[in-house]
Amino acid sequence: MRILFITAEMTPYSKAGGLADVAGSLPDALSSLVDSMIAITPLYGKIDQTLHKIVPHGISGGVYLDSRLYPYEIFIGERGSGVTVLFIKNDHFYNRPGIYTEANGEGFSDNNERFFFFQLVVMDLMKRGILEVDLVHTNDYHTGLLPVLLKSDFPEVKSIYTIHNFLYPGHFSKDELRLLPREIHEMLTLTQWNNYSALLEGIDHASRVNTVSQGYADELLAGENLDENSHRHVEDAAGKFSGIVNGIDTDYWSPMEDQYLSSHYHAEDLSGKESNKQALIEQCGLNYASDKPLFGSISRLVENKGFYLILDVMEYFVKQGVQFVFLGSGDPNIAKSLEEMTQRYPDQVFFENGFNEPLAHLIEAGSDFFLMPSRFEPCGLNQLYSLRYGTIPIVNRTGGLGETVDDWHPGCGTGIVFEPYDAETLQQAMKRAMDLYYNLEEKRAVIQRAMNEDYSWRVSASKYYELYQLALGDCHEA
Ligand code: ADP
Repeated sequence: MRILFITAEMTPYSKAGGLADVAGSLPDALSSLVDSMIAITPLYGKIDQTLHKIVPHGISGGVYLDSRLYPYEIFIGERGSGVTVLFIKNDHFYNRPGIYTEANGEGFSDNNERFFFFQLVVMDLMKRGILEVDLVHTNDYHTGLLPVLLKSDFPEVKSIYTIHNFLYPGHFSKDELRLLPREIHEMLTLTQWNNYSALLEGIDHASRVNTVSQGYADELLAGENLDENSHRHVEDAAGKFSGIVNGIDTDYWSPMEDQYLSSHYHAEDLSGKESNKQALIEQCGLNYASDKPLFGSISRLVENKGFYLILDVMEYFVKQGVQFVFLGSGDPNIAKSLEEMTQRYPDQVFFENGFNEPLAHLIEAGSDFFLMPSRFEPCGLNQLYSLRYGTIPIVNRTGGLGETVDDWHPGCGTGIVFEPYDAETLQQAMKRAMDLYYNLEEKRAVIQRAMNEDYSWRVSASKYYELYQLALGDCHEA
């Protein structure tokens, strides 16, 4: 079983969101189960080649987008896990500070070309016999055309298409069709908006389709948050559609050995957690009070992460002495509103507008509660990190959030789960969190249960292995 894992982002090299974390740990977890695992990703300008020991592989070539030839060069990096990572270098497309967006948060105007190029290079490497694989695991719309390209040129090679988020359809216009090989034009379907969608193509043409939790799979099959056309594509794919909840890298995200923390701790001795709270509060310039809860949040700043609900209820809790720490970047309006709160309550509210990996780890370790009231959430990783760090997650019951966090009732539960999605219900949930905070025995029990949950890749990687087997026709569905 020779697998090619293709992804637009991958930790520790490049990261914009959860896809990077999954791509940075799932191939490692699968590498001992399959015969060969190669991951391939763009060589973005920000990737530190020296740090990650990424070197030229001695392979170069070029692919046509329309009538223009774009060169590429392949670089290689080895991971201890046995996974080979190939990087595609083309400075015109990838040597920029951002992965998908300009500094102001706006997507690059040539994102379609950038990811068409990515996929066409993969096809070129296969055609040249440099990559010989049995199955290509594609991820999100950036790679959604590969199942189509494979059907056309390598019908014997199977494909998996994993939906990490349905929100990004990868639309491209009729005009942009000329950038793609003629052979596949007829295979593509116009959407109701008279565009093409790389996401829907992935769903239509992949041998198997999955998403990152059973809860989100069920929601998509039921058409929740989907337009009619997208729902029809999902329904048509129902026979090959499944949900596998994400795992996490439990070495990198470990309160016992986190490289970014100066105090470590475990479920039986939580004293280090309090030291992290103190360090976090000091670093953020807030006032430390051991008897006041601290709510943390790390997120892309987008509407669907629930920021407007949080902003609606924040003041109520600030007035009770609660502190908030936010880390995120994205929507300038959300950033502005958070900024305003920091100006009004400088001793209690902190917001860093940016991407900051060390601070993200400290927030996970040092907060009492983690706010994640997403309107929808395919899987969500931060609630999993929070469980592992004993930081009680507060989540809306949706997608992967509802699947991975159990609501607290005396004697059971790992977090606070609420529904429906509105500010009043979030406020109730946060009030329950306050009750829990002051109920020391219950709080300790919730934290310990949370920390003892197992969201390593152990179980989920074996499910992906079964999915690969199904796609390859090596086994039959139970
Ligand atoms: P999504 O993929 O929708 O962004 P996830 O919860 O699945 O949401 O994953 C987000 C990942 O990105 C997490 O690892 C989170 O810690 C990280 N992240 C998001 N924003 C930031 C930021 N501003 N700084 C550091 N890490 C961030």
